[in-house]
Amino acid sequence: PLVLGIETSCDETGIGIVRGRTLLSNTIASSMDEHARYGGVVPEVAARAHLEALQPSIEAALAEAGVSLHDLDAVAVTSGPGLAGALMVGIGAAKALAVSLGKPLYAVNHLVGHIAADTLDTDAGPLEYPTVALLVSGGHTSLLLVRDLTTDVELLGETMDDAAGEAFDKVARILGLPYPGGPEIDRAAASGDPDAIRFPRGLSRASDLAKHRYDFSFSGLKTAVARWIEQREAAGEDFSAEDVAASFREAVVDVLVTKALAACVDHDVPRLLLGGGVIANRRLREVALARAAEQGVTVRIPPLSLCTDNGAMIAALASELIMSGRRPSTLAFGADSTLPVTEIQVAQEREE
Ligand code: ATP
Ligand code: MG
Ligand code: FE
Repeated sequence: PLVLGIETSCDETGIGIVRGRTLLSNTIASSMDEHARYGGVVPEVAARAHLEALQPSIEAALAEAGVSLHDLDAVAVTSGPGLAGALMVGIGAAKALAVSLGKPLYAVNHLVGHIAADTLDTDAGPLEYPTVALLVSGGHTSLLLVRDLTTDVELLGETMDDAAGEAFDKVARILGLPYPGGPEIDRAAASGDPDAIRFPRGLSRASDLAKHRYDFSFSGLKTAVARWIEQREAAGEDFSAEDVAASFREAVVDVLVTKALAACVDHDVPRLLLGGGVIANRRLREVALARAAEQGVTVRIPPLSLCTDNGAMIAALASELIMSGRRPSTLAFGADSTLPVTEIQVAQEREE
């Protein structure tokens, strides 16, 4: 099926067009620059930016794919989780398109969309099940067990406080680096010593593991970094910001990879899929690939344009739902900022 997907859950206005599992276009407009001076995404600013970017993005995506609106078999949209106001703009546009064109509408889960992005990565071959998926972005840190993309996604664990990307952004701020902090920390860390400072690995003690084996916590780490710097400054001691960046990055990467591989081993799943904007982190990819190889686990990492928020992944998920015979959504749905990952599609039409 030829599907157009609309993604507006955060600061990216993503329009993607797929035919089956073939990617035809993936247009991304980001309002990141407008949020930079606030040090994080401002919901109202994001919603307004989506409104302005949608129409031109849809036109650009259609042109790049070489198709017209009337060729579409379905329209897909993210219904959650995400920023309520931002989601509403995309949902409004998707409903308007579907109704005016008389095409079926599929309202889908953003997190499952991140996994669906992987169906478009033809170099890696078809997605195999079951697979463990680690999604790490500015808003999410989730560990999932995917038995089937369209019917069975289980949440194994998630962050109890900050998302991994958020931790990068906050620590960058502490170090006086600009937003978004992930790429900045990555750059600074390249010339630092990852073993210089032993920062805490959240929820990794034996007592924590009993209850939170697959959960994450990064706010303690952020506080530990802030306190470590305060102490050096109070004592008038010099320190290397590169070492702090490298040691912090190592702590984040260590926990992410350790817990993801524990999930693979515990569930006897020799496959790990990585997604989300934090996958851009070089050290994360390096450590994940090396440690997974030791455990006999194969790692799938889609190209970065499919890892960060995009519309193609939303179209890809709807395409999978259609190919497995699922009925479309009714118009009776809205934005659900806390939509659980187990709800792959919302407001599905009932059988007559
Ligand atoms: P959502 O949580 O809804 O997926 P988002 O916009 O916050 O949305 P992404 O766009 O997928 O998430 O990723 C952005 C996050 O990734 C930011 O927090 C950013 O700092 C982080 N990031 C980007 N590059 C790197 C990197 N090289 N290392 C670490 N973090 C990075
Ligand atoms: Mg983003
Ligand atoms: Fe996302």
